[in-house]
Amino acid sequence: MRNPFLFFVFLQFLLNTISDTMYRTHTCGELNAANIQQTVTLCGWIQKIRHLGGMIFIDLRDRYGITQLAFNHETRPELCAQAEAMGREWVIQVTGQVIERYSKNKNIPTGDIEIDVETLKVLNKSLVPPFTIEDVSDGGDELRMKYRYLDIRRRPVKENLIFRHKLGLEIRKYLSEQGFLEIETPFLVNSTPEGARDFLVPSRMNPGEFYALPQSPQTLKQLLMISGMDRYFQIVRCFRDEDLRADRQPEFTQIDCEMSFIEQEDILQMFEGLVKDIFKKFKNIDIEPIERITWADAMKYYGSDKPDARFGMRFVELNDLLQHKDFKVFNEAELVAGIKVDGCGNYSRKQLDGLVEFVKSPQVGAGGLVYILCNADGTFKSSVDKFYDQADLKAVAERCEAKAGDLILIMSGKAMKTRKQLGTLRLEMGDRLGLRKAGEYKLLWVIDFPLLEWDEETQRFYAMHHPFTAPKPEHESMLESDPGAVNANAYDLVINGSEIGGGSIRIHDQELQKRMFKALNFTEEQAQAQFGFLMNAFQYGAPPHGGIAFGFDRLCAVLSDCDSIRDFIAFPKNNAGRDTMLPAPTPIDPKQLEELYIDIKPIPNGK
Ligand code: ASP
Repeated sequence: MRNPFLFFVFLQFLLNTISDTMYRTHTCGELNAANIQQTVTLCGWIQKIRHLGGMIFIDLRDRYGITQLAFNHETRPELCAQAEAMGREWVIQVTGQVIERYSKNKNIPTGDIEIDVETLKVLNKSLVPPFTIEDVSDGGDELRMKYRYLDIRRRPVKENLIFRHKLGLEIRKYLSEQGFLEIETPFLVNSTPEGARDFLVPSRMNPGEFYALPQSPQTLKQLLMISGMDRYFQIVRCFRDEDLRADRQPEFTQIDCEMSFIEQEDILQMFEGLVKDIFKKFKNIDIEPIERITWADAMKYYGSDKPDARFGMRFVELNDLLQHKDFKVFNEAELVAGIKVDGCGNYSRKQLDGLVEFVKSPQVGAGGLVYILCNADGTFKSSVDKFYDQADLKAVAERCEAKAGDLILIMSGKAMKTRKQLGTLRLEMGDRLGLRKAGEYKLLWVIDFPLLEWDEETQRFYAMHHPFTAPKPEHESMLESDPGAVNANAYDLVINGSEIGGGSIRIHDQELQKRMFKALNFTEEQAQAQFGFLMNAFQYGAPPHGGIAFGFDRLCAVLSDCDSIRDFIAFPKNNAGRDTMLPAPTPIDPKQLEELYIDIKPIPNGK
């Protein structure tokens, strides 16, 4: 086409044809004063209809924002009649001119303009939604979950999903730049009885046999290391059939990672880098080098393997100071320990009784609580004044570094149990005093976990992390003689008292792996039957390797100062493990069961 004029006409024709067939020229979130006088076409959902004098105003919403539409009774009476017949959540398409708004809305990016609507087309009607699609909805949890597709139209939920997407993108970018490859592993795998319960999937083609959905791709990522893939990651769904708590879901997402030819230090450095990058990009916070604490110290000072270190209140052990008088409760205890609560020395009797009640509640399950009030005049008042004199109490106060006006809370009993109980009380006091501040982040690496955990009920050891975690080399020799004392090369990343990630250096030596299975009470046949595939693979040159997995849903929640991971999952399950929207689970057609040779026994009453 030599003639430039003809070319221009052709281009104009092309553009017209495209815009005729296009649903929209812009989204509802992008128009502003710079677009005034342009003719635009928008599509979206009706958020609100308002009548004001001779005008109708509609807030039109899509994923990107809200734009105000204006209909003038005087100049376009038919359009107004059409608009009046519409309702909330109808899907419409409008064309009109962008004009300056009379009363501007500074709170939204499109607040300076509105659309003087010239044509209007209803693309779809809607029933009246069961709850208001507003930032703060009138719908309860259950109702919003049942209509989750409507809930997602609400800005806070939608923004959580957008945040999740962006976080995932950044993680993929960061890890890819570090040479990690994202490799998918199967969802239909074998059942591994260690750990949580598996979700099982019957195999029609192999009657009587079952797949399991992976609790994590642990063994598969180790096999990828044996394959020589060197650095693997996957943002991957994991499935665990556990009883649910507020922050648990039967399916959840991990950022699963594994590396070869590394030691624990390499992993901590690599993933500290990832965490720093995330905090900088998403919170504009420069994270200091992450403090490390051993598992033993975490338990000793916080009574938890995931301490919320945003505030102090570290435990102080008091056995030597309080076991010399006639107070039987302390004398018989394995551990007497306390916390100092700043500025609560003026607690009333009622407040103190409230704390005693709290520790006796099933949530804590303690027998009682001893308190010492540090009075302004330097004297002390305690709940055990009968047994201890002022000098005794002063010694405790000094050990706790308490000053006048502080409160000391003391618990006692079996060491581990007391630590956990005091840990719960510590968090409660942190909450009451507003010390667990939103927007403040304290990160910790908890290291040197015990390799094994004794279970009283079954009278055997279980792997604290999983059976492939390596003991610390200097503890390897105790695996048979004193298994409970062996520490592992295992680590957790904790943010504000929430376990965000965990991993370990793996056993890559088949002899050591055999010893580990033995410590876990597996016969050689059992180990072969369950983990033969991995042990066989170890015979073909397994490199030293290790890894970590982060809870992606939880990371989203923590970064958003939110308690529930559900808010970051598009279609979550409720506390009974149900999706009330689909719904799932449901009984299955007997024909389908027949095909699978599955015979369901009658379900006992009350189950
Ligand atoms: N697979 C482990 C888990 O799910 C994490 C790891 O060791 O990498 O906890």
